[in-house]
Amino acid sequence: MVKVIGAGLAGVEAAYYLANQNIEVELYEMRPNKMTPAHQTGRFAELVCSNSLRSNDIHNAVGLLKEEMMTFDSLVIKAAHATSVPAGSSLAVDRELFSSYIEDKIKSHPKIKVINQEFTHIDTDSYTIICAGPLASDQLSKEISQVFDRDHLHFFDAIAPIIEAKSINMEIAYLKSRYDKGEAAYINCPMTKEEYEAFHHELIHSKKVQIKDFENNVFEGCMPFEVMAERGFETLLYGPMKPVGLEKDGGKRPFAVVQLRQDDASKSMYNIVGFQTHLTWDEQKRIIRMIPGLEQANILRYGVMHRNTYLESPKILNNCYQTRLFPKIFFAGQISGVEGYVESAASGLNAAIQMCQLIVHNELKPLPKETMMGAMANYISTPNQSFVPMNANLGLFPQLEFKHSKKMRKEHYAKRSIDALLLYKETLK
Ligand SMILES: Cc1cc2nc3c(=O)[nH]c(=O)nc-3n(C[C@H](O)[C@H](O)[C@H](O)COP(=O)(O)OP(=O)(O)OC[C@H]3O[C@@H](n4cnc5c(N)ncnc54)[C@H](O)[C@@H]3O)c2cc1C
Repeated sequence: MVKVIGAGLAGVEAAYYLANQNIEVELYEMRPNKMTPAHQTGRFAELVCSNSLRSNDIHNAVGLLKEEMMTFDSLVIKAAHATSVPAGSSLAVDRELFSSYIEDKIKSHPKIKVINQEFTHIDTDSYTIICAGPLASDQLSKEISQVFDRDHLHFFDAIAPIIEAKSINMEIAYLKSRYDKGEAAYINCPMTKEEYEAFHHELIHSKKVQIKDFENNVFEGCMPFEVMAERGFETLLYGPMKPVGLEKDGGKRPFAVVQLRQDDASKSMYNIVGFQTHLTWDEQKRIIRMIPGLEQANILRYGVMHRNTYLESPKILNNCYQTRLFPKIFFAGQISGVEGYVESAASGLNAAIQMCQLIVHNELKPLPKETMMGAMANYISTPNQSFVPMNANLGLFPQLEFKHSKKMRKEHYAKRSIDALLLYKETLK
């Protein structure tokens, strides 16, 4: 028997997979008896904000992730298809029908027993997958800090967008550190006065995500970029966009500069300095692409500022979502360091596959890192000084090992992933 904690995106996916493998599941859910600050109902797999599960295109990271999940009969993706509403190339759902579909399948499954109560005690000798989400209850968070190292559990997320290095136009942008101090570590995107005026205007009129009441006091001392812009035309010029010491090759000083800082050891990702933001994802894309040098920017991770309970997973989990300290305890979903609805569900599925391997065959079988599910598991378990939760993105994949045109790169990634997954599935039989 496996205990699954939380009937959110990750929990329902994990419970369904295990139950279909003939493993008894006890699924704990505390709502509606005890609510989180963001959920509105007692329904399973409630989508707390947007109703979109993002792209359906297999050449896009999250589209590919959905395709991979369907090879394991994903409950979340089946429910999304069954309850979809028109949304162009994206997969959006009717959130009520989506939750109902999932709840029906879970509650009618003979192998799943739903326990409607808060889970507060971790028995390290019981098979357990903890999927309590970014708003895990306080009692459980406290228990996790006691069982694991309290310094490895974080509660808030204020992260600037991360850009794929290859998509930055280095004919416009250039490397330099402010005042020329130290090595030229930052990528600088210079703006003229006219460009800054247009950028500032769009920024202050942009669409923001509604801030939840419980988040109002969270981010003192970490002001969103757009709020700085609203304080006055010059505020950013004295803050993160200060151009002093950033002249290119001894030339004229730009009116303003956006800086990007290296985010990973291989220099494949850069984050925009000081750009923590509440802008909606669509607006982030539009505004970032107004920055000279970032016109074609590929955003690997959008900026967020929200309450987010997550583990410093590289120190706690391996690439099967299993804790390094206690082999029977796994974490999945947003709390394990992935970001997004689909990513959370995918990690629940992966953790359940591994749990099943452990119970039935007494060995784990990590998914290949050439698959998006495997690449995400690899990301959350690889040592990283500045670990933050991450959306699925093609930057997580190992490079292609053969010559290819840039245009074909995404197609090769998709094909390599599906081929690897089919081979992997054979080994599960
Ligand atoms: C405010 C907010 C907005 C977000 N908006 C988006 C968005 O628009 N798009 C997107 O892709 N992602 C969004 N996310 C990120 C993330 O994708 C979602 O939070 C997603 O629901 C995470 O899935 P999960 O399964 O990890 O957690 P959840 O879906 O939150 O599920 C966790 C479940 O565990 C239950 N639980 C918690 N503690 C206990 C306990 N002790 N005992 C029993 N049950 C417990 C909770 O009630 C909940 O049902 C948002 C996150 C937040 C916080």
